[in-house]
Amino acid sequence: ERQKWLDKLKAGLGKTASSISGVFVGTQIDEALYEDLEGALLMADAGVSATEHLTAALRRKVKATGVTHPTALKNILIAELTELLQPLQKSLVIGEHTPTVVMVAGVNGAGKTTSIGKLTKHLADSNASVLLAAADTFRAAAREQLTVWADRNTVEIVSQEGGDPAAVSYDAVTAGKARGKDVVLVDTAGRLPTQLHLMEELKKIKRVIAKADGTAPHEVLLVIDGNTGQNAVQQVKAFDDALGLTGLIVTKLDGTAKGGVLAAIARERPIPVYFIGVGEKLDELETFNAREFAQALLA
Ligand code: GDP
Repeated sequence: ERQKWLDKLKAGLGKTASSISGVFVGTQIDEALYEDLEGALLMADAGVSATEHLTAALRRKVKATGVTHPTALKNILIAELTELLQPLQKSLVIGEHTPTVVMVAGVNGAGKTTSIGKLTKHLADSNASVLLAAADTFRAAAREQLTVWADRNTVEIVSQEGGDPAAVSYDAVTAGKARGKDVVLVDTAGRLPTQLHLMEELKKIKRVIAKADGTAPHEVLLVIDGNTGQNAVQQVKAFDDALGLTGLIVTKLDGTAKGGVLAAIARERPIPVYFIGVGEKLDELETFNAREFAQALLA
């Protein structure tokens, strides 16, 4: 199973990988190689900070070890990238609170609704009872889509046509407590009618959830599209500044040439990557492993 998705991840990241691994096909480590590598990392959206960090580390290691062949350098890069990504490898823990309240944010199109469906299945598969809250009350389609995911997973959903998002969230947390659910997943809006400010709306939802349960929300997740590179990094910073993120779900890593984005996140805003999306299907959600990812990116 794991091998199957790793192959898929590799095939997607391969677009990145081919340009990065192409750097190591020569016979010597020279200045031109370092320049090509910097270019390839920037193309893969690793960002300036991670690119400089990694190439500086490589230069130090080459000096210290005296290796001369590019293949050896590639292996050092895999090790350095693994180390850089390691802080992002963390699991979503549920069970410390009943219910564990998980607020999920993300701009429209990032894959938020799909990821909530996948996460619901993942939790249900591990025998956790889940209650969904459709707090994106602005988009009728969002509510309908979430209802479809709820039905597919046979879990309950709190939804109210045109209702106040914060009120729906409050009701869901209260219901989750009353019904003894393990997890309440709150789906929030990714875009609002223009006159309203998205971050203010999300902050309000967070405040109101805390009124329903003083320890909640226990997790604030952001779903980002791994295919949007530096744009995704900017979203992480903006949502973290506003809401205080506890975790990320990075989607669409099955078809991207911008897999370097995780290195950028690790350098610029190291928030745990609880899950990665590697396809559109319900079971195409995987936990993030730093070494596997580094190998897939550079193999
Ligand atoms: P939302 O607007 O953020 O709720 O986004 P959706 O969940 O509706 O997803 C937007 C599109 O991205 C849909 O066509 C999804 O099938 C697709 N999608 C979501 N996650 C993934 C993923 O991990 N891989 C791929 N290939 N497509 C995905």
